[in-house]
Amino acid sequence: MKPLVIIGSGLAGYTLAREWRKRESAQPLTIITRDHGGFYSKPMLSNAYAQDKSPEQLALKTAEKMAEELNASILSHTEVSRIDRSAQTITAGDRAIEYADLVIATGATPIHIPVEGDAADEILSVNNLDDYQQFREQLTGTRHVVLMGAGLIGCEFANDLTTGGYQVTVLDPAPWPLGRLLPEEAGLAMQKALTGIGVDVRMGTTLQSMNHAGDTYQLTLSDDSTLNADLVLSAVGLRPGLSLAGQAELETNRGIITDTQLRTSDPHIYALGDVVEIDGQVLPYVMPIMHAARALAATLSGEPTDLIYPVMPVAVKTPALPTVVSPPPRDSEGEWKIEADGSNILARFESASGDLLGFALTGEATAKKQSLVAEMNAA
Ligand code: FAD
Repeated sequence: MKPLVIIGSGLAGYTLAREWRKRESAQPLTIITRDHGGFYSKPMLSNAYAQDKSPEQLALKTAEKMAEELNASILSHTEVSRIDRSAQTITAGDRAIEYADLVIATGATPIHIPVEGDAADEILSVNNLDDYQQFREQLTGTRHVVLMGAGLIGCEFANDLTTGGYQVTVLDPAPWPLGRLLPEEAGLAMQKALTGIGVDVRMGTTLQSMNHAGDTYQLTLSDDSTLNADLVLSAVGLRPGLSLAGQAELETNRGIITDTQLRTSDPHIYALGDVVEIDGQVLPYVMPIMHAARALAATLSGEPTDLIYPVMPVAVKTPALPTVVSPPPRDSEGEWKIEADGSNILARFESASGDLLGFALTGEATAKKQSLVAEMNAA
C-alpha cells in the first residue's frame, strides 16, 4: 500500500501526523525532512536566550522517538527536490518514493533584504533550531546586537536579548514597532516599553551597508548615521518556500494556493502550515496550523472537512509590554477605536456598523482577551 507522505517535520508536518494517526492507526506514513527531524517548539527560539535554554534543551524529541510514537518512517537530512504528479512519486535524496496522498509542509524561509558591504553575508537569521545554535555560538563574547525588523519576532528578540544582558539596537523603516499588527498608539506603547528596558529603537531607518571593522562591524544606516555592532540579526519576515510547488506546476501566489480543505490544484497534493495560502491569507502562526492540521487529518481519512478558523489571537512574547493581537482580516473595512490608560491600550477594529473585526491589547488590557474573542465569535 502506498503511504501518506508528508514533506516537512515542523509544527505543521508533525501536528498533521499526530492528528492523522488518531484516525488511521495502520496506514503507512512517511515523513521526509531536510533537517534533523527532531521535534521542537519554534516559538521558543525568540524568547529562549534570557531563559538560558540551550538548543539541546529546546529539542523536545528526536526523530527516532517521533518515528516510534507516530509509527512512521522518518527520513531526516533528506531534501525533496522533485514531485512527479503523473507517477505520484517524489524524489527524496537519490530515491523515488511513491505516495497515495502528498502533503507539502515545507514552511517559510527568511527574507533577505539587500545590504551592501564586505560583511553583508554575515547577517544571521533564526528560523530553526540549527540557526538558533549558530546564533548562540556567535553571541558568545559579544555585546552589541543590531536587529533588523521590529515585527513580532524582532521585538521578541529585542526584549529577550536585552534581558539576557546584551546591548540591542532595533532598526525598522516603519513609523512604529509591530506596524503591520498594531495601530499607532499600541505600537508606540511597545516602542516606549522596549526603550524603557534599554533597547535603542530606531524607527524609520534601515541598514544600508555592513563592513568589517577590526573585531566588530561598522554599519551605515539609511539616514547616513553609523554605528558599530558585534552581530546583526535579521528578523524582517518570512516568505513561503515555493520551489517544489513551482517545479510541480502547482498554483501559487504568495503561498501555495489551496481550497478550504487544504487541497492544491492537484487532487492528491495538499499544503499546510507557513507555506499555504487560503482565501488570499498566509497565516504563519501556531493556532492556524493546529486547526488546519485537524481538518486535513479528517479529510485525508475520508471525511472531507472544510477548514473554518475561529478567532485566533497571537500573543507577542515581550514581557516589557505583554501584547495580544487579533489582526482584522486583510482588506476589511473599518477603523481602530482606542481606549488608552498609559501603556494599557485596548484597541478595537470595528466595521461601520460597530462589529468587532479585530483587536490589539497591551499591558493590563490583555486581560480583556477572552471577552473580545467571545464578542467576535458571537458576531
Ligand atoms: P517549519 O517549522 O519551517 O517546518 C518546515 C519543515 O520543512 C522543516 O522540517 C524543513 O526541514 C522541511 N523542508 C523544507 N523544505 C524541504 C524540502 N525541500 N525537502 C524536505 N524537507 C523540507 N507563531 C505563533 O503563533 N506564536 C509565536 O509566539 C511564534 N513565535 C515565533 C518565533 C520565531 C523565532 C519564529 C521563526 C516563528 C514564530 N512563530 C510563532 C511562527 C510559528 O513558529 C510557525 O508558524 C510554525 O512553526 C511553522 O511551522 P511549519 O511546520 O509550517 O514550518
